[in-house]
Amino acid sequence: GSEVDVEGDVEIDEDAAEDDLLGGLKVDSTADIKVPDRLVDQVIGQEEARDIVMRAAKQHRHVMMIGTPGTGKSMLAKAMSQLLPKESLQDVLVYHNPDDSNEPKVRTVPAGKGDQIVEAHQEEVRKRNQMRTFLMWIVLAVVVGYAFLVEGAILLGILAAGIIYFAFRYSNRGSDAMIPKLLINNAERQTAPFEDATGAHAGALLGDVRHDPFQSGGMETPAHERVEAGAIHKSNKGVLFIDEINTLDVRSQQHLMTAIQEGEFGITGQSERSSGAMVQTEPVPCDFIMVAAGNMDAMENMHPALRSRIKGYGYEVYMDDTIDDTPEMRRKFARFVAQEVERDGQLPDFTPDAVREVILEAKRRAGRKEHLTLELRNLGGLVRVAGDIARSKGHEYTERDDVLEAKKRSRSIEQQVADNYIARRKDYELKTSDGEAVGRVNGLAVMGGDSGIMMPVMAEVTPRQGEGGEIYATGKLQEIAQEAVENVSAIIKKYTGESIADKDIHIQFVQSYEGVEGDSASITVATAVISALEDIPIAQDLAMTGSLSVRGDVLPVGGVTHKIEAAAKAGCDRVIIPKANEQDVMIEDEYKDQIEVIPVSHISEVLDLALVGEPEKDSLVDRLKNITGGALEKGSAG
Ligand code: ADP
Repeated sequence: GSEVDVEGDVEIDEDAAEDDLLGGLKVDSTADIKVPDRLVDQVIGQEEARDIVMRAAKQHRHVMMIGTPGTGKSMLAKAMSQLLPKESLQDVLVYHNPDDSNEPKVRTVPAGKGDQIVEAHQEEVRKRNQMRTFLMWIVLAVVVGYAFLVEGAILLGILAAGIIYFAFRYSNRGSDAMIPKLLINNAERQTAPFEDATGAHAGALLGDVRHDPFQSGGMETPAHERVEAGAIHKSNKGVLFIDEINTLDVRSQQHLMTAIQEGEFGITGQSERSSGAMVQTEPVPCDFIMVAAGNMDAMENMHPALRSRIKGYGYEVYMDDTIDDTPEMRRKFARFVAQEVERDGQLPDFTPDAVREVILEAKRRAGRKEHLTLELRNLGGLVRVAGDIARSKGHEYTERDDVLEAKKRSRSIEQQVADNYIARRKDYELKTSDGEAVGRVNGLAVMGGDSGIMMPVMAEVTPRQGEGGEIYATGKLQEIAQEAVENVSAIIKKYTGESIADKDIHIQFVQSYEGVEGDSASITVATAVISALEDIPIAQDLAMTGSLSVRGDVLPVGGVTHKIEAAAKAGCDRVIIPKANEQDVMIEDEYKDQIEVIPVSHISEVLDLALVGEPEKDSLVDRLKNITGGALEKGSAG
């Protein structure tokens, strides 16, 4: 398998394999890693899809692939075309039909023959034209000679010569029309065709007949010469790949279905008012394997009959987004870097440390414990940007620093907005990252899936105004605030005997921002409320993230790595995260010296760390521990 290709002649340090981001691979650079020849062997992960593609290629079956963009769908479809026999490839010719020029004839011949046939026709026409021209000159000479002999017939003779001349010209044109058009030429092909018809309009998919502006009067282009093949015809005996299949218009999906059923599909002009629409060829072969792709809702929106057609005569497979992080898989990811370098052809090879940094990024992007991301198109983008940076700096190899810089540069729009926002806020910063404040907590949130941002939360407690206590929160985070306060109210009630139902609680997400996902703000809100209620200040060098149960357990949240980095960037010295998220932390080394990461499992630990002002705090935390001791024990045991 492909595993051998990674390891081939390359040495592996088995002892180091477990802890090393390179999986123990001992290489000087990616130049030492052999890239497999076949595309199908270059595919990383996606074992199931790979198996299915190999099986479907053998059995000539269609495949439907569902999954996230950039996980290898089109790569697999292309790989499939390399697995198909090239012996069965055909050339297709379109001929003028003397009975009805609007119904061109179609002939199929083995690949390579098409060219020869066209050449033979050209040669024949050329010879015939030579002969005709020769005959024409003789006739002309006779006519003109005769006119000279017969007195008074000169004018008539010249006129006759003119008529004869144009008659010949015209009939020569007619004989040009006898040359067939080579619609599909597979003479030079090394593998079965692969056609990507993603987003193709009807003409590009199903074939078309060009419009002829001169539809009569001897100036017209013969209909068969205006016929153009579609992707379904070009992929004959090969693979037709269509991503985002659901975006194909219904009519095209119906025609596609017919094409799959019949294995042949005549070509007609696709735009109704064009002269091409009058033309309809004989059926043109389109015996392709269909690889349809899309995301989950592609399945729902695609033509049900087309889907059942594919399903009934083929396979459906779901693409993985992530894969288990094992030493073997890391070595494959190292090979991935080598593959992308080779494919690009311009990038300097990567040093082992640079590859490690790419693999660390793959871990981070997986967003899942002990997994690596399989969104490899994006990861490939990072490889290219890093390589470009190295090249622009004249480095012989792409180094770790180049990868780090590339990570900065290849930030998503959301990340750029977030960073910009953070930078801007820092200018005005009401110095949040030191000192202490009552009711104010440095919360953390994620923007756009991969950007951390620090988002302070402020709480204020006032005697209630209305009937029952109200919770007021700014912005879209009302729900989160509500939930966090409700969760914490049980705890507060227990230890103070005080019901927050008697209070109005105002919660403000300072400078909260469009697009911020506040899913995990609940320990932040709870801490701010307790601080405000008890009038105990909170340390501001600390940031926190975590969800809260009614029993006071701190529950795991998403995006911890990004959040920790945001806290470090904002200048905090300490950051609290849920203990259950400990393994998700994949911060870059640079941050490790900047910030202390403190995993916790119970709200009392959070308060212990966050609250300042000894006597009040201690008694509060003690009381909390007593009340929720059971939960705490459970938390610290787990
Ligand atoms: P999709 O069709 O799923 O959107 P592609 O197949 O076009 O994704 O992937 C784009 C590029 O990303 C590929 O050409 C390849 O360089 C890289 N890539 C994506 N998935 C994989 C994979 N599973 N193994 C190796 N490379 C991959």
